[in-house]
Amino acid sequence: MTSAVEESRIQKVVDGLHRQLLINGEWVDAASGATFETLNPATEEVIAHVAHGEREDVNRAVRAARAAFDDTAPWRRMPPGQRGKIIHKIGDLILKNLEELALLESLDNGKPFVVAKVADVPLAADLFHYMSGWASKIEGNTIPMSAASPGSHLSFSLREPVGVVAQIVPWNFPLLMAAWKVGPALAAGCVSILKPAEQTPLSALRLGELALEAGLPPGVLQVITGFGDAGAALVAHPDVDKVAFTGSTEVGREIVRGAAGNLKKVTLELGGKSPNVVYADADIAKAIKGSAGAIFFNQGECCVAGSRLYVERSVYDEVIEGLQREAESIRVGNGLDPATDMGPLVSQEQFDRVTGYIDSGRSDGATIHGGDRVGDRGYFVAPTILTDTRDDMRAVQEEIFGPVVAAAPFDSEEQIISVANRTDYGLGAGVFSRDIAKAMRTAQRLRAGTVWVNTWNVFDAAMPFGGYKESGWGREMGHAALENYLETKSVICDLS
Ligand code: NAP
Ligand code: MG
Repeated sequence: MTSAVEESRIQKVVDGLHRQLLINGEWVDAASGATFETLNPATEEVIAHVAHGEREDVNRAVRAARAAFDDTAPWRRMPPGQRGKIIHKIGDLILKNLEELALLESLDNGKPFVVAKVADVPLAADLFHYMSGWASKIEGNTIPMSAASPGSHLSFSLREPVGVVAQIVPWNFPLLMAAWKVGPALAAGCVSILKPAEQTPLSALRLGELALEAGLPPGVLQVITGFGDAGAALVAHPDVDKVAFTGSTEVGREIVRGAAGNLKKVTLELGGKSPNVVYADADIAKAIKGSAGAIFFNQGECCVAGSRLYVERSVYDEVIEGLQREAESIRVGNGLDPATDMGPLVSQEQFDRVTGYIDSGRSDGATIHGGDRVGDRGYFVAPTILTDTRDDMRAVQEEIFGPVVAAAPFDSEEQIISVANRTDYGLGAGVFSRDIAKAMRTAQRLRAGTVWVNTWNVFDAAMPFGGYKESGWGREMGHAALENYLETKSVICDLS
């Protein structure tokens, strides 16, 4: 598996990158001096060594963040319009460096370079551009009170930034997840300490550089690369006011417990096991393409992956055969090769996890289509379809986070609603039908934060995103995201 991007170009991008911690506007080594390796999952080769931040580094960053959030500090004294301009400029700089960021994302995560260029990077820029406008539109209300006679008091609400926020992100969309977190935090006037995933630290470091270039004052965005213990130290720190986390439901629970000390505000974007419902009256060609995209996009490493496919019985065979053809046509390979549709999984750990679920499906009696390792180097798994599944199989109930879909037929609208909702998760869902009334009824009854109709994986900076049930707390994107980063203060003034 070869790469079509020249080695010299890759080396230049990696060599030019800061690989230390970004604390208080400066690039510094970890207090311990330690570093860790980040690997290219397509080749298993080391891309770079980055600083290994730990508790002491977290303490340093929190001290700098508190100083940056002081109400005499430049960030707090900056007019909101100016704050918006800096946020907008971060979006501009992301677009200006689009190719380089896409290259870092492809190297570090494995995803196709061409996909990072049209999805991850431009969507990250969109988010900053969208949020930049909100900085100057955060308003309270003037509220008439009934507890006093009119004119005796003036009462109003103020919206104020919540403070120092820890933002912990995963490896599947490293830059985009960072943007979803940092954009609204900055728009609200907060200061952020960003902890990227250990597997994919590079684009967060570049984002830190670009934020400084855009004119963000020191300490307003800091980047601590490291492991889960650095995340846990941020979550437990008494001077951190809020945690925003994206990742597994399991770690989400630990975050809730860890944040209890000073009762930090917490928002969580967690896992999913999203149902995709295909009715017999759907445009079948569109449903097949849509269902393939729902599960195979980004190697299936999507929190909203359509990983449970339910097809009305009369068209079940036709849809499964079509999906198999789609799966077989996907070219699996090095993400830097322009011919590649699907890259490797992010790590050995994720490879073991995904193939472990395929094995569990097999031993529980499912029929496996695909399921093989591709090549003998790198963490490549073929797109995989499980048929002859039952609802109680682990591969049907648990999040796999890989290119593995479990399929089953259904017989009626009533039956499929209850089956589709029979999960602890509630992040995404989809329905394919030409009957608009049926599609809308189904969309209303599916318990999920996003429901796609006759499509999948369409995101927009203006559309709120998040989970029902164990898929999370709160919403990202849209103006709803600002709520996560704002406090409301009531001011009541006696005018007598
Ligand atoms: P994870 O452990 O939940 O990691 C997410 C982020 O949390 C990373 O930055 C991680 O740091 C950090 N972290 C880990 N333990 C922590 C702790 N105790 N306190 C604070 N922060 C902590 O996810 P993962 O292990 O990389 O992936 C495992 C599974 O999670 C996947 O197979 C998938 O099912 C699910 N997942 C879901 C999403 C999503 O978007 N919903 C994204 C990624 C993964 P380290 O990188 O150093 O561990
Ligand atoms: Mg982890």
